Amino acid sequence: MSFELNNPGYEIPPEMQGQVTITTLDKIYNWGRRSSVWPMMFGLACCAIEMICTATSRFDFARFGMEIMRPSPRQADLMIVAGTVTKKMIPQIVRLYNQMPEPKYVLAMGACASGGGPFKEGYNVVSGVDEFVPVDVYVAGCPPTPQALLNGFITLHKMIDKQSIKTVRWYRKGPEQPLPVPILGPDLIDPRKYIEIKEYTETKLEAQIAASQPAPDQPPATSAG
Ligand code: SF4
Repeated sequence: MSFELNNPGYEIPPEMQGQVTITTLDKIYNWGRRSSVWPMMFGLACCAIEMICTATSRFDFARFGMEIMRPSPRQADLMIVAGTVTKKMIPQIVRLYNQMPEPKYVLAMGACASGGGPFKEGYNVVSGVDEFVPVDVYVAGCPPTPQALLNGFITLHKMIDKQSIKTVRWYRKGPEQPLPVPILGPDLIDPRKYIEIKEYTETKLEAQIAASQPAPDQPPATSAG
């Protein structure tokens, strides 16, 4: 550990190595965070099975200090979006993201979460979760293997290592705005607006029917036959 944290340029006498560490605030701060990233526990589709495999004994992401997945966003700092993101689910995903405290990260696992995957043209599928929440790491594959997900974690660790306390967003001044919870097109209905949607749909339908009727002073079309 001390070897990992030592800052180059500060030579420590051999007899003190292992007992004394000279490092920077950024380095020890990032080392602490990236060695204890806790993912939030939820899965959306088949990719979640691979995520579960990554947590079990053969691969075991506890080796990265990730230990258990947290069932509450308040105790998690990594959102693994594992699976197909449907329009029905995206408001819940954004709400969970908003409830996670900073520092927090998002990993898009697989083709579906990254860009819609094989269901990209589907009426009910979002073409990538990054349209709604900021994604830090993309893991390719359909499904990605546990090794690919572990590689995604290592990529995230490298990203955390490069951050500085001076510039990270969670220490910036000013209030933090939550991400807007999406209310998409007519196929994603906000139940609180059910009456408004119903009235809007009925009005629109009546207008369409009226537009398709012939004008009253217009003679009915006759066949030339
Ligand atoms: S990327 Fe493939 S394995 Fe993952 S959720 Fe989509 S279809 Fe399933």
